[in-house]
Amino acid sequence: MTANLLEDHHCRKLNYLRISVTDRCNLRCIYCVPRETLPRLAHTDILRYEEILRIVRIGVSLGIDKIRITGGEPLVRKGLMAFLHELQAIEGIGEVNLTTNAVLISPFLEELRAAGIRRLNVSLDTLRRQRFARLAGQDGFDQVWSNILRACELGFAPLKINVVAMRGINDDEFAEIAALTWKRPFQIRFIEYMPMGNPRVPHDPFVSNEEVRRQIEPLGKLEPISRGANDGPAERFRLAGAIGEIGFISPRTHHFCGDCNRLRLTASGHLRPCLLSDRELDIKTLLRRGAGDRELAEIFTRAARAKPSHHQLDTCCGKSVASQMNAIGG
Ligand code: SAM
Repeated sequence: MTANLLEDHHCRKLNYLRISVTDRCNLRCIYCVPRETLPRLAHTDILRYEEILRIVRIGVSLGIDKIRITGGEPLVRKGLMAFLHELQAIEGIGEVNLTTNAVLISPFLEELRAAGIRRLNVSLDTLRRQRFARLAGQDGFDQVWSNILRACELGFAPLKINVVAMRGINDDEFAEIAALTWKRPFQIRFIEYMPMGNPRVPHDPFVSNEEVRRQIEPLGKLEPISRGANDGPAERFRLAGAIGEIGFISPRTHHFCGDCNRLRLTASGHLRPCLLSDRELDIKTLLRRGAGDRELAEIFTRAARAKPSHHQLDTCCGKSVASQMNAIGG
């Protein structure tokens, strides 16, 4: 096991790298994709797979052992499966996970298994077909739902379903979504909306997870599940007798920054110490200028040291983050 050299100024050890492999997405979710059409990154500005692999190897030498692939939508990028095989083969990586909207996943499910991916996070904010189409700009609900069921049959576990809780958008569905866990082994994760970029939601649609929880409680007692070391920020519960579980990720009402173990690598080749702070360190330019591993490792340690103690989002002031979620990788 590699010693972790990525300790920040607040004694947090950073062992988790989230990688956005593209800023492109096949959906246009109103809370994620910006109001105006922003120029997409040119192909040459997006890190090539071999560049990502080199950066990951350096990260692993410093103590990174957990990777999540995200975007944009990772499955829109060509060659993803071959890349995942190479990623999994890097010695020292314990876990590679994928976050996807699952619209395009069907032909890749078996290959993902073959590439060693076991953990999937699927974003699904509604169980209503027409609402999905309004929210995501595409009539994709049936496809996503059947792909989730297929992934479950194939044994992807945990299979997490990310639900962003939003006022006036899906705030009448939380109990219905939570009730899926009675019969299915899903891990539903309710996520508080974060104000980022310039989304197309008409106002800040924030709903606190306390309110989500109040809506769920009539279904039955929520029994807490004890947290494991590598569990991430969700507070986890199970409805008594349910197969699946329910988690609450509450960046706005409960900072979980004290336990944050993450760095992000954006599609444009920047290391981002905190999702909710716009500071980024350019690793791509150095890499393309021919920097050696030691110089690139230095960018990692600088990114670790630049990690703020906690984010600045605030329930009342709602100070927002300029970067777009689809460009950073959620
Ligand atoms: N395309 C993939 C997907 O749909 O899961 C990966 C990228 S998406 C940006 C990653 C996650 O970020 C999704 O679960 C999405 O719901 C979440 N997300 C996007 N914008 C958000 C926001 N403003 N607040 C909270 N979560 C957000």
